[in-house]
Amino acid sequence: MRIRHSALRHVRVMALFSHPMPELPDVTVYVEHLENLLGGQVLRNVRLASPFVLRSVAPPLRDVEGRRLTAMSRLGKRLVFCFEENLFLVLHLMIAGRLRWRKAGAAIPKKLGLLAMDFDAGTLLLTEASPKKRAWIRLVAGREAVQALDPGGLEPLAASREAFETRLRSENHTLKRALTDPTLFSGIGNAYSDEILHAAKLSPVALTSRLSEAEVTRLHAAVRDTLLEWTDRLRRDAGDGFPEKVTAFRPEMAVHGKYGKPCPACATPVQRIVYADNETNYCPTCQTGGKLLADRSLSRLLHGDWPKSLEEMEERKDAAREGGPSTWPSGTSPSAAPRRERGPSSPPRASPSPACRGRGERRRGRRV
Ligand SMILES: [Zn+2]
Repeated sequence: MRIRHSALRHVRVMALFSHPMPELPDVTVYVEHLENLLGGQVLRNVRLASPFVLRSVAPPLRDVEGRRLTAMSRLGKRLVFCFEENLFLVLHLMIAGRLRWRKAGAAIPKKLGLLAMDFDAGTLLLTEASPKKRAWIRLVAGREAVQALDPGGLEPLAASREAFETRLRSENHTLKRALTDPTLFSGIGNAYSDEILHAAKLSPVALTSRLSEAEVTRLHAAVRDTLLEWTDRLRRDAGDGFPEKVTAFRPEMAVHGKYGKPCPACATPVQRIVYADNETNYCPTCQTGGKLLADRSLSRLLHGDWPKSLEEMEERKDAAREGGPSTWPSGTSPSAAPRRERGPSSPPRASPSPACRGRGERRRGRRV
């Protein structure tokens, strides 16, 4: 049986949704649990199942063995394990990296296991459910070396409305791109940016330079409310146990991963813009004044015939069902999923933010 390329793409996009990259709320909850479990404990041993996971050379990894963990912190989407002697283990889970807490000395799972950190209280396992092994750790000496790994995004929960606006307008981008750019804002990725924009009732492709003052105020509030609400929810869900499912797909989300499902605010089917390995979800009624967002190449293919509203799209689909002339070139109708559209510029990238204490200066252009 011939499998259509679009079907394979769909599978890949869905696979990403089942493994969304951990963002600020997820990483915060990991940090809190790890600090409770490991604070004051000595790291006895680090076992590497994959040599590729370690992305630093000096100091050697064995230098951290026998050191006491003094604190945990978050650097954007990374976790920072702070040890005695000014040693820091920085861990980026990327998309599919996950942490598991097991009894001391637990074996590293075959295939998925990348490394084990053995403490007296238990063993922390790093797994990655993806053939592309992208999660990494770096051992660095000194806080400056930690700060050098910070892409420089503003901490969204610490930022005043004024600081938020200054950063937001520092470059002219679509809102989706601005929120997920780790050099602009720290810890926000594809999932929570969808939720934030829905809460703010703003289009993912609205330009930062064109926002009114009232819209900036709404967006700033939505960033705070969304991230705080989700951090609380993930905390509650994890309870006293280790947050094993912190980053699983969340059915409670309003629009993210909800293509075709009713918007919880207005029941309009959630729409999407697909690009590369990701997709943006939005509600046309709540966020774009009823407009469907099209991509440039598809619009060209349709000779500018892209429906401007859901109603128009439904009319065309009805006409097609009744045998009328369809205006959709084969395989390009909005119901022929999934399609490639111009996303809000480039796909959201991995992001990052502060070491165990304080923040460094903002650095631009460093993205990992
Ligand atoms: Zn809606």
